[in-house]
Amino acid sequence: MAAANLGLVHQGSVTAHFNGDSSLHKSFIKTQKISFCDRPWARFSQLELNSKTATSRYPSVVAMSVSQTVTKGKITVAPLDLEDAKEPPLNLHKPKEPYTATIVSVERLVGPKAPGETCHIVIDHGGNVPYWEGQSYGVIPPGENPKKPGAPHNVRLYSIASTRYGDSFDGKTASLCVRRAVYYDPETGKEDPSKNGVCSNFLCDSKPGDKVKITGPAGKIMLLPEEDPNATHIMIATGTGVAPFRGYLRRMFMESGPTYKFNGLAWLFLGVANSDSLLYDDEFSKYLADYPDNFRFDRALSREQKNKNGGKMYVQDKIEEYSDEIFKMLDKGAHIYFCGLKGMMPGIQETLKRVAVERGENWDEKLSHLKKNKQWHVEVY
Ligand code: FAD
Repeated sequence: MAAANLGLVHQGSVTAHFNGDSSLHKSFIKTQKISFCDRPWARFSQLELNSKTATSRYPSVVAMSVSQTVTKGKITVAPLDLEDAKEPPLNLHKPKEPYTATIVSVERLVGPKAPGETCHIVIDHGGNVPYWEGQSYGVIPPGENPKKPGAPHNVRLYSIASTRYGDSFDGKTASLCVRRAVYYDPETGKEDPSKNGVCSNFLCDSKPGDKVKITGPAGKIMLLPEEDPNATHIMIATGTGVAPFRGYLRRMFMESGPTYKFNGLAWLFLGVANSDSLLYDDEFSKYLADYPDNFRFDRALSREQKNKNGGKMYVQDKIEEYSDEIFKMLDKGAHIYFCGLKGMMPGIQETLKRVAVERGENWDEKLSHLKKNKQWHVEVY
């Protein structure tokens, strides 16, 4: 028998995408055990195959089962055309000529007690809008631009939350992590749907098969520096700011690709309101269990946890807690990334400055050194 871990695309489907094989017929599967989590986009199956037929018909499955034993169940991904490129793809589709992609799935990521809704949206770009981890897509929602009658809406940017292979490991999809922008009247406290965010609601309300106009990919600030596979990457996210980091972490811990073999340290700090608001927690917990020497994960739950002064726990409080280690890592060349709402940065900068002063260091000098050294990466919106 040959056992292999395959990423399944849809719930209940046995379509597998790996090493060029596009389908795996049911009859080749002896047993199937769902072993990761029950979200369709993160679903893994431990498949036991009938080796006689599978070996001849699906040699790559068998090859993968061998590599699986050495890569702790990572998904083997075949090289994409852009894998060897020296530069990331940029603005292949401009706002005047967007690419019309198709929605594959939309899934609510948060629990019932989360304030607000965040959705995981998988988009099929058919391989026509390739991207690298850390880039963004632009989305043009349908309808008319209220400020320019007759013209389309302006582009909204969304960080891509998958690796270049996408959640189906075939290089044909991209995933977004979108928070629905809901407007509450400050006086009545009631929702006013006429003022809800146009694009985030369009995306969160879309259905499989719907069309979506995308532009890009855009951005170079948040690309994952891959020259040194032993590097340390400290990632600070609030809410949907976790999107690019989900892409990094899948590249580091979920996929076994032809070019990047990560063996450094990735440390994620994620700030959200409460445990129901945690995003991709199953995936991150799995990396913690499988790669305890290569992954650290700290959650700051502002409405559930208290900081050392009895106030709400924000990401900067977690940074302060570990500031000694973080500063030492930065001195040794670690990369630090910030992504999420603009409002996160002042509090974080204040904390870093205070810690630097306590350590007898000049924060402004340190910061300009980090920037010059390309260790400091910020994308806030
Ligand atoms: P818009 O229609 O643009 O409205 C913006 C806000 O104004 C909304 O909160 C809306 O409720 C409010 N509003 C509308 N009309 C009124 C009115 N009359 N009076 C008062 N308020 C009003 N977002 C994510 O969710 N996930 C991501 O990964 C992500 N990545 C990003 C990456 C980058 C680089 C950037 C720049 C932004 C990113 N964003 C991301 C934010 C995203 O681009 C959008 O800004 C966001 O989704 C809101 O767009 P919208 O069309 O829904 O809202």
